[in-house]
Amino acid sequence: MSDDYLVKPGKKAKLDGRDPADTGGLKDEESARTQLADDIVAIDKLQDRLYAEGKRALLVILQGMDTSGKDGTVRGVFNQTGPLGVTVTAFKRPSEEELAHDFLWRAHLAAPKRGTIGIFNRSHYEDVLVVKVHKLVGAKEVDKRYDQINAFEKILTDNGVTILKFMLHISKKEQRERLQERLDDPKKHWKFNPGDLDDRKLWDDFQDAYETMLERCSTDHAPWRVIPADKKWARNAVIASVVRKTLEDLDPQYPKVTWDPKSFRVE
Ligand code: AMP
Ligand code: MG
Repeated sequence: MSDDYLVKPGKKAKLDGRDPADTGGLKDEESARTQLADDIVAIDKLQDRLYAEGKRALLVILQGMDTSGKDGTVRGVFNQTGPLGVTVTAFKRPSEEELAHDFLWRAHLAAPKRGTIGIFNRSHYEDVLVVKVHKLVGAKEVDKRYDQINAFEKILTDNGVTILKFMLHISKKEQRERLQERLDDPKKHWKFNPGDLDDRKLWDDFQDAYETMLERCSTDHAPWRVIPADKKWARNAVIASVVRKTLEDLDPQYPKVTWDPKSFRVE
């Protein structure tokens, strides 16, 4: 199932041809929830082994338009995972300090330590998305960044970090409903930001920027996946299954000790 959503390196991603309401061969919501429940427990067990092994790390990058469900994915997929070995970093508008460095500085600082899972809620990709669409940096400068990102991610993967990149693909119609909910439900007011409406007006420009990002930065060492995100249950189930499978393939091992446990007695 997982590889249906891969963007082949060097290929155009064509978001138009990808249905945001796709349910990825999942039978129905109930079976997807059962599968998810099983996967997130497995993810926790695998994470414990990753932590004990202490040699490698996993970086999960979440990108998507406002309301695409980045926060919900963190909550839905990692809520069984022990907090000891997981860090979540939300990338907001850069601070003065961050702007004084190269754009990858803050991403590198937040990269996961050996033995841990790092989650990027937004990421260095904002520097070729919102920055490009709002022309915060010149076009030539942005154009150099795709290769810089690929090189940066290669440094991480060469140093034991496996990278999973998920673009949460929602429809414009679904975004309308979710933004409206943020206005209608007092418990969601805090999530509403009038700036989101300005970005919604630039929907097509953002989709173009996403397509270019997918085409130029889906690499063999760190491929992108475009995850249909109109249905939250399908989104979570698909992502959890990819995370689980990836950790299973890494197959982290509890370290073998060099001493004999039988030589000690706990009085
Ligand atoms: P939120 O929707 O709460 O995640 O808000 C974070 C905001 O920070 C979004 O509007 C992002 O587009 C913005 N943001 C994140 N990274 C950058 C960046 N490098 N440059 C400019 N804006 C950014
Ligand atoms: Mg926002």
